[in-house]
Amino acid sequence: MMDLIRNVARKIDQGERLSDEDALALFNSNELVEIGRLADGVNRAKNKDLVFYNVNRHINPTNICALSCKFCAYSRKPGEEGAYAYSIEEMVTKAGEAVAQGATEVHMVGGLHPRWKFEHYKDMIAAVKQAFPHVHIKAFTAVELDWLARRARKTIEEILRELQAVGLGSLPGGGAEIFHPEIRDTICDTKVSAEQWLNTHRIAHNLGMHSNCTMLYGHIENYAHRVDHMRRLRELQDETGGFNAFIPLSFQPFQNEMGINNYTFGYDDLKTLAIARLYLDNFRHVKAYWIMLGQEVAQLGLEFGANDLDGTVIEEKISRMAGGRAGMAMSRNFIEHLILKSRRIPCERDTLYRPIKQPELRPKTEPSSNLRQAINKCDYGELLTIEDLQLLADQASLHEVGRLAAAVCGQAVTAGEGSFAPTTVLKLAEVSSVEDALSTLDAVAERNCSKFKLAASTIAIDLAPSTAPAAGESAASLGLDALLAIATNCRERFPTQEVAVWGTKGLWRLAQSQQISVAKLAERLAAAGVQSFGSSPDESETDLTNQEITELHSLMHAAGIPTIAKVELTAPTYGPSEPQWSAFLRRVRALADLQARTGKVVGIEVTASPGSFITTSEYFRAIALARLGSQGIPMVIAPLTMIPTLSQPKGLGTASYQHPAEKIASVCLHFGAADLGSIDMQKLSPISIMEQIRAAGFKPTLRASNQQQPSLEVYSAIEQGLRHAPSLGL
Ligand code: SF4
Repeated sequence: MMDLIRNVARKIDQGERLSDEDALALFNSNELVEIGRLADGVNRAKNKDLVFYNVNRHINPTNICALSCKFCAYSRKPGEEGAYAYSIEEMVTKAGEAVAQGATEVHMVGGLHPRWKFEHYKDMIAAVKQAFPHVHIKAFTAVELDWLARRARKTIEEILRELQAVGLGSLPGGGAEIFHPEIRDTICDTKVSAEQWLNTHRIAHNLGMHSNCTMLYGHIENYAHRVDHMRRLRELQDETGGFNAFIPLSFQPFQNEMGINNYTFGYDDLKTLAIARLYLDNFRHVKAYWIMLGQEVAQLGLEFGANDLDGTVIEEKISRMAGGRAGMAMSRNFIEHLILKSRRIPCERDTLYRPIKQPELRPKTEPSSNLRQAINKCDYGELLTIEDLQLLADQASLHEVGRLAAAVCGQAVTAGEGSFAPTTVLKLAEVSSVEDALSTLDAVAERNCSKFKLAASTIAIDLAPSTAPAAGESAASLGLDALLAIATNCRERFPTQEVAVWGTKGLWRLAQSQQISVAKLAERLAAAGVQSFGSSPDESETDLTNQEITELHSLMHAAGIPTIAKVELTAPTYGPSEPQWSAFLRRVRALADLQARTGKVVGIEVTASPGSFITTSEYFRAIALARLGSQGIPMVIAPLTMIPTLSQPKGLGTASYQHPAEKIASVCLHFGAADLGSIDMQKLSPISIMEQIRAAGFKPTLRASNQQQPSLEVYSAIEQGLRHAPSLGL
């Protein structure tokens, strides 16, 4: 595969255009970081460090539509529940609200209203333009224009000229979907054909109007259909040069007639952005449309060739009704924050990509000799110092640290595999006695088994205080004897599964309350059959010192119990500062040193401390640096349930499970992580985790927490409908 990357790199260097076969081969390749690095190089050559966004508002005038495209969750028939149609006055009011917030663009697309005449649409544009003459109106897809032309019995050129005369500035790129008839005839056979769509944009370009173009992917099309779609766009761009931006639209899977209920995975989104950037050499702009990708993938998209994040949007109904999870608005500050944290320069633009204010570009700097030395050390497998790691944190590109970390990861664990631990979790603070604990465990284990046809690989007893309102205070309230009795019984009841205890602070608390040393406690846990120890997902450890953490883990190791340690990146305001990166790296290094002494640190889990302000690019950098700084430790873990996500209002870095983490978790496997952590089978389906890992190009494997190598491929067992995975001996 590296031959492919080398060949593509050579073509780019020589200014040679990529062929359809090249694009297809890139889609079929698993070299995500390398493809991203090439796309980033092409993007920087075109746009330097600039990332564009605009302050805009989407207004969808109506969802009443004469057509019934199979993938559409937005349209309604007249009189149907949820149908709406804004009056022209309402449209003007909504545009006015946006203008008051500084919008320079109004974006209007909607359904094909069976009773609205062409004059109504013209009046709509004219009214908004008259009220706000300085605002650019981008409106009507080629599908809407075709409908209007037919209703008015005019040609596309005639209606475009009339709309242009009353204020239409440019066309959005919707309605393109997938051009290839094999797909188009299935998902939207009543829509304009590919040729009609392209011809409408050709006519607009010839009238001096610019437009965007889109591609709806992630449904029933294959990679060849995507390449075919992009080729047709590239050809038209060669002819007219009228496209502003290419916008890949990831399929939103709710309420459609196609029976697809999966979101695209981040791996596919990022690869599609990057290949578009490489293939569409005559486009200046590729947009990471956050409304559909989510903020996490959109920000990462800036590393994969995208140079535009769209805009503030404010109200968008089309993808929202189809299951869009990203919210409907992002503030200017938030957009700029995402761009700055990906180490690029935000540039507010108008619709035609003219900067509202001229941005200050940074002078291009060559990497320092110290950074080159640190990179060389990685390449030669030498031990990195804290100073080397800090340099990589401060100065290296995300691709560079990702590339280096993935290489180390491949040496540490079986390359090409991504593991996780399906787990039955017992919160000790939520049970009232040993009997209650055991019957709860039996019931949960049985339920998990019958639901997923798969036994958990790990039984975890979590010592963190309860999060359930009516439950007990902490593990200490039930006592050590109860914990030991539960562990012993677990060993007997679940002989082929690993028994783990979770909770660093819980263990200190327990030792204190029982007035015994942690060393003694560790010995008693080992004697009761506890086989591994890890952090609780419900407790932050940032207030513990490196010394306290290493001491606790080394005492467990001395008792013969392997451990997984959590490392939290902290940044209460606007991303980690240099000292916060330094603290993170020192914690990683302290664990690596412990591993050199005991050999019993199985893995480190990378997460953000609760309430931290950490963006997705920073989290990916943390994963890669943890891998580079922890030579000797088998696994760096991106725990799916603790990956920081961005969608909550104050959710930057909240260490709680958010759905969008699914989109990016398996991408971490390309940046040095080998494992997605313990998955509580009561909360998440192991089958969906396997699908995520597979979708990122890795072979999904199960592990128990104390095993250094992923242990079991269970797909075939599940597919055969076996009650238990046979290799687990159940
Ligand atoms: S995709 Fe557009 S044209 Fe098709 S049904 Fe939905 S609103 Fe109507």
